[in-house]
Amino acid sequence: MLFSWLDRRRRERILAAPFRADWLDYLQKNVALYSLLPATDQAKLRDDLRIFISEKSWEGCGGLTMTDEIKVTIAAQACLLLLGVEHEYFDHVQTILVYPSAYRAPDGEVGPDGVVHEGIGRLGEAWPGGPVILGWDAVLEGGRNPEKGNNVVLHEFAHQLDFLDGLADGTPPLKSAEEYRRWHAVMTAEYDRLCKASDQGKATVLDQYGATNPAEFFAVATECFFEKPLQLQHSHPQMYDVLRDYYCQNPVAWFMSTGAETSPHRHRRPYRGNRSRKDPKTAAPKPAFETNQPGWVRFWMLGTYWPREVAVERLRYMLYMLVASLVFGGLALAGMSRRASGAVIGFALVGILGFSAVWLWLAVKWVDRHGWKEPHP
Ligand SMILES: [Zn+2]
Repeated sequence: MLFSWLDRRRRERILAAPFRADWLDYLQKNVALYSLLPATDQAKLRDDLRIFISEKSWEGCGGLTMTDEIKVTIAAQACLLLLGVEHEYFDHVQTILVYPSAYRAPDGEVGPDGVVHEGIGRLGEAWPGGPVILGWDAVLEGGRNPEKGNNVVLHEFAHQLDFLDGLADGTPPLKSAEEYRRWHAVMTAEYDRLCKASDQGKATVLDQYGATNPAEFFAVATECFFEKPLQLQHSHPQMYDVLRDYYCQNPVAWFMSTGAETSPHRHRRPYRGNRSRKDPKTAAPKPAFETNQPGWVRFWMLGTYWPREVAVERLRYMLYMLVASLVFGGLALAGMSRRASGAVIGFALVGILGFSAVWLWLAVKWVDRHGWKEPHP
């Protein structure tokens, strides 16, 4: 209680000071995405990065002298991930180590999380509960050239979001079972698609380093989402929608610079745990395929989770089980003088299965009328 009050006071003092002009220069020079943001987001980012800088331990390694420019450039890009949600400034990351250049790791060193980059000349590294390690040249390169879609800061801090639930599995904490189901369906299909394209030597919008494992896939997808949103939305619309709803941000709007975007953080909640993310509907200017459907249809995740053939097959199974329950209930009823519970169970199953089957059948008919979306190959 006392500490949180002291924290709040300290943060208020930091934000009460005007934003330094030289820091603004660093932002404009080194963080290209900053100038694309709406003014409200720019202001929030300037506030967030000052708190972020003050609450981390910054260390220059390999002869690098730590400077404000390095801190501002890294902090701005890390905090960009959090613009759409209320957050605690990556409070599980205490230390940021910066090398002058892509640095050399000791031979044979392998991260416990499976997310350590190539052993020699790593660009960056993220450890659960540990430091984030970055090469300054890679930070600058990524920050100044978003069109390339490689950004080591966004990448490593996306890993940190993934680590929040204690697992480096490419799925950060989400809000609901439905969100997990949607995430799993879309991201698994997209990961498989990238792996296949990588095996076949095909060009892809996503960096093929993402085919390493699902954790890398999420980090790479995050880089692409913020830096090449138009291409990502065009060729992977479902994944774009999933990431847009997760980050509660719509980078396509920055690049289109229509000026019509509303502030993406109106209903902010903490970013941890199941209640972490804001209601995606409030952040979704363009509804996803599923969100065009009424709730009773969306329940079945048709098209995304179940293609039509699968839905029809499940419907058939339900009918078989319904007939079997009817027979079971009927037989139990015939011998009811001895035991009534069998008949009750049998007819309860008939009721549940009948209700579900009619519901699914109506949902399939609804999507038939409004069009199916092909699931990803
Ligand atoms: Zn990585």
